[in-house]
Amino acid sequence: MSEDVWPPLNTLSTGLRCRCPRCGKGPLLKGFLTLRESCPECGLDYGFAEPADGPAFFAMSAMGIIGMIGFMVFEFTVQPPVWVHMVFTFPLIAAACVGLLRPLKGWMVAEQFVHKAAPPEWKSVGKHGDGSPWR
Ligand SMILES: [Zn+2]
Repeated sequence: MSEDVWPPLNTLSTGLRCRCPRCGKGPLLKGFLTLRESCPECGLDYGFAEPADGPAFFAMSAMGIIGMIGFMVFEFTVQPPVWVHMVFTFPLIAAACVGLLRPLKGWMVAEQFVHKAAPPEWKSVGKHGDGSPWR
């Protein structure tokens, strides 16, 4: 097998572990949420990756549903005083949102790599500008 040929990897496995979507070994992020320039193991340029606000959207949506279900079950079964929610429930939901950001970002970048996602490009018909200014 040539070094240029990489077997396809499971996007969930590499993404949720925040690993390179091509080799599955190199780290994808530096710090908490900053994308690296490239993979230190295989040299894949991460310039294609642009998850934007996707991880935050999915984390908030998931925790909005799961967190509210948990909140309502807790409220209607235990009926704690309000301060318990302020000290325990709401910080727990916020921490779960933050905790989901890294794996969701890794997963979205892995999906972008596998599906060769790129910003939309279109040709101008000549009357409304010169096309997409993205690249
Ligand atoms: Zn790699």
